[in-house]
Amino acid sequence: MAEINPWGVTDIKDYTKLFDDFGISRFADILSRIEKPHLYMRRGIIVGHRGYEDVLRAMNEHTPFAVMSGFMPSGKIHLGGKMVMDEIIWHQRMGGDAFACIADMESHSVRGVSWRDCKDIGLNEYIVSLVALGFDVEKGHIYFQSEDKRLQDLAFELGTAVNFSEISAIYGFQGDVNIAHMISVLVQNADILQPQLREYGGPKPVVIPVGVDQDPHIRLTRDIASRMRMFLVEERFDKAQKPYISIRAKKADSGALKEIARRIDGQKKMYALHMDLFGIEESEIDRTMRKIEEIVRDVELEYGGYGFFLPAATYHRFVQGLTGGKMSSSVPESYIALTEPPGSAAEKVKRAKTGGRVTVEEQKNLGGSPEECTIYELLMSHLIEDDAQVKEIFDECKSGKRLCKACKADAAELMFSFLKRHQEEREKAKEVLMKHELYKHWFR
Ligand code: SF4
Repeated sequence: MAEINPWGVTDIKDYTKLFDDFGISRFADILSRIEKPHLYMRRGIIVGHRGYEDVLRAMNEHTPFAVMSGFMPSGKIHLGGKMVMDEIIWHQRMGGDAFACIADMESHSVRGVSWRDCKDIGLNEYIVSLVALGFDVEKGHIYFQSEDKRLQDLAFELGTAVNFSEISAIYGFQGDVNIAHMISVLVQNADILQPQLREYGGPKPVVIPVGVDQDPHIRLTRDIASRMRMFLVEERFDKAQKPYISIRAKKADSGALKEIARRIDGQKKMYALHMDLFGIEESEIDRTMRKIEEIVRDVELEYGGYGFFLPAATYHRFVQGLTGGKMSSSVPESYIALTEPPGSAAEKVKRAKTGGRVTVEEQKNLGGSPEECTIYELLMSHLIEDDAQVKEIFDECKSGKRLCKACKADAAELMFSFLKRHQEEREKAKEVLMKHELYKHWFR
C-alpha cells in the first residue's frame, strides 16, 4: 500500500492505486455537476475529492458553505502555494465563506522557524500574494494560528476526542517528537472545523483544497468531527429491506433525544438513547435524511454541541519541480517564487526540464512528451486560461510541429508577464491590508 504522510511523501505517480487504497473519489466523476469549473478542475489538476458532494449541493442551491486552507510560513510562496490560493479564491467567488490560515504554530513547532520569521514570511510572502491573486478581504477571513484564541480553545476541546497512540500511528510520531508538534496537529484540525463554529454562522459544508499528501489530516479531522457529534443519524434497513432512519445519542441525554422526537413528524419508535423512524418512501429517503440531520444539528447546538458536517477536501496533483522530480525549497532552480524577479524566473523556465527529444530531427519525426514536460505543466496550470490554446500546444508537441526552444521562450515570456503583473498587484494588496481595520496591526 502506498503511504501518504503530510511531512514525507512528495512524489506519488499512481493516483489510481492511491485513491483505491485510501477511498478518495475521482474528481472527474462530479465535474459535470459544476456549472463553471475552475481550470484546475477542467484540466484534471484537481484529481480527487473526499465528500465534495455536500459542498457542491450547497454551491448549486445557494446555501451556506465555506472554504478553508492553510499555509505554513517556512519559505517562499511558490506556484504550489498559488494553486491552493486560486482554489480558495474560486470557492469564495462561488459564494463560499473563505478562510486562509497562516500555520505559524505548525511552522514554529515542526520546522523551528522563529515567531518573528513566521510573521514576516506569513505576511509578506503568503498573505500579500493571496490578496494580490484576488482574495476578497472584506468577505473572507485571514488569520495567524498564534493570534486566534478561539481556534486554540477549539483545538484544546478537539484534543478530548483523540489520543496519543492514534496521532502517533497516523503521523509516525516516535517518543522524541516534541509536544508542540503534536499540539500543532490539533490546531490544524481546529483550523478545518473552525468555519463551522456558531461565531461564523454555525455548521455548514466546508471544503479544504490541498495536495493529496494532506489526506491524513483530512481523514483524522473527519473522524474527530464525527466523534464530537452528540448524535449519529444513519439510514438502515429492516428485515424486509425497507429503509428506515436511526438516530442514536452518542454524547447526549434523553432530553435532547425527546426534543428531536418532538420536532419530527412520522412513525417513530423510541428507546432510551435512540429512536427509529419508519414509513419513509424509498424515493424520499435522501431528502428526509437531510431534513432530519438539520433538525438534529439544531438540537445539538441548543444543547451545547457543535453539529459539525464532516469536512470535505479536494486534492490536487503534486507539482513537479522545474528540474524534474520533486520541487524542493533548498533547490531554488526547482521552483518559481511569486516574489522573485520576473527576469530570473524567465531564465529558470528556459533551463527547465522538457519532454522533448534529444535532437530537433527526432522531435520533428516522433513528437515530444508534454505529459512529462515541466514547461507544459506551467503553461497548462498557470499561464494559459484558454482550453483550446492548451490543447493546441499539446497536439503540436505530440505531432512534432512544436519545438522546445521556441516553446520555452514563449513560456518564459508568459511567466515574465505573469510575475510582473502579480508583483504590481502585490503592491496594491499591501495598501489594502495596511488600511484594513483587522489587518493593519500586522505592519506595525
Ligand atoms: Fe514541452 Fe513544449 Fe518541448 Fe513539447 S515542445 S516537450 S510542450 S517544451
